[in-house]
Amino acid sequence: MHDHRKLGRELDLFGTDPLIGAGLPYWLPDGAAVRHALEEYVRGAERRAGYRHVYSPVLGKRELYEISGHWSHYRDDMFPPMEMGGEEVVLRPSLCPHHALIFRSRARSYRELPLRMAELGGMYRAELSGVIGGLNRVRAIQLNDAHIFCTLDQVADEAHAALEMIRRAYEALGIRAARFRLSLPAPGGKYVAAPEHWRRSSALLTDALERSGLPYESAEGEAAFYGPKIDVQVADAAGRESTLSTVQVDFHQPERFGLRYVGADGAKHRPVMVHRSIIGSVERAVAHLIEEHGGAFPAWLAPVQVAVLPISEAEVSGAEAFVRQCVDQGLRAELVGPERGSLSSRVRVARRVPYQAVIGAKEAVDGLVALRLRDGRRVGALPAAEVLSRVGALVSAHRPVLWDEAP
Ligand SMILES: [Zn+2]
Repeated sequence: MHDHRKLGRELDLFGTDPLIGAGLPYWLPDGAAVRHALEEYVRGAERRAGYRHVYSPVLGKRELYEISGHWSHYRDDMFPPMEMGGEEVVLRPSLCPHHALIFRSRARSYRELPLRMAELGGMYRAELSGVIGGLNRVRAIQLNDAHIFCTLDQVADEAHAALEMIRRAYEALGIRAARFRLSLPAPGGKYVAAPEHWRRSSALLTDALERSGLPYESAEGEAAFYGPKIDVQVADAAGRESTLSTVQVDFHQPERFGLRYVGADGAKHRPVMVHRSIIGSVERAVAHLIEEHGGAFPAWLAPVQVAVLPISEAEVSGAEAFVRQCVDQGLRAELVGPERGSLSSRVRVARRVPYQAVIGAKEAVDGLVALRLRDGRRVGALPAAEVLSRVGALVSAHRPVLWDEAP
């Protein structure tokens, strides 16, 4: 594995500036392309799984976090409040309270449940400067978050479905979980006191894990302050683990915010909140992807997907036309022209690009491209339209393979 900070610099993915501040990286165009592809994958997977997306602001009044419990249990990790017009607003430490209020903003019926609300939204954590570095620990976080408001009977299915989304995402991303962890409270920690809720949540999460057939371990002291969670752990090059995905069952916030829905019996009932994240924060997810793949991302994530290499000056205009066709098809393509050296040195320059399309005199005349894959395989000369459709199909299906021999 590789150090994502070193590779991030080498590959022009992201950077930092002391004037912006520690833990506040910016994304360069190639890094932004990876991030955008990842975010669109997540949104698509969520849409297909019945989630609806919302946007909510990154600020909220201090009072909001007093109600949610963040102020008393999580204040050390929050930025200090800002005074404004006699009120105090804070940068939010999580998206949950905003989503609870969006749920509460309308009368809700049992027919709407499970109501799956998703957002890729900003949140903030006052990390100490000593632990900050690269994309792993940042102060401004873009979180892939969702909250499922549902009945108690629906929790197990929803948690199970979330684990299934996580499994499919890891397959597409070409990463694997180091460990599934059932994160429980530790004696004497800062948790909300509701023993019955903790017992029920733990039992529901255990059920979801068992049903998914996943091996897991329990760990004390890793729970959220409002409830236990399933954490999907990934490991870096040094074997250090961090949490990428989570599934949590929460009875606490629905109670704090007085959430209600009208049941089939006409009476008001309290929903349960399932918090779940497929890829966690995009910063940490991209850091892990860089390290796991050494910058050679799965084709659908790669900053440049097709490098087009005309052998000589004579094929440059044909190569430019092929780049345009790729771009029109939604692929990220780039011309690596003869002014950048011999063909073999240009192939080396483009070694992390999944597809290298070589165009020589013969190919130019016949409307072909000689396709090479990043792993060294040579597919050979194919009609340009066939390359476009086969690469396009693999990319839009988020397939982790570079080529189907027999599509
Ligand atoms: Zn949440």
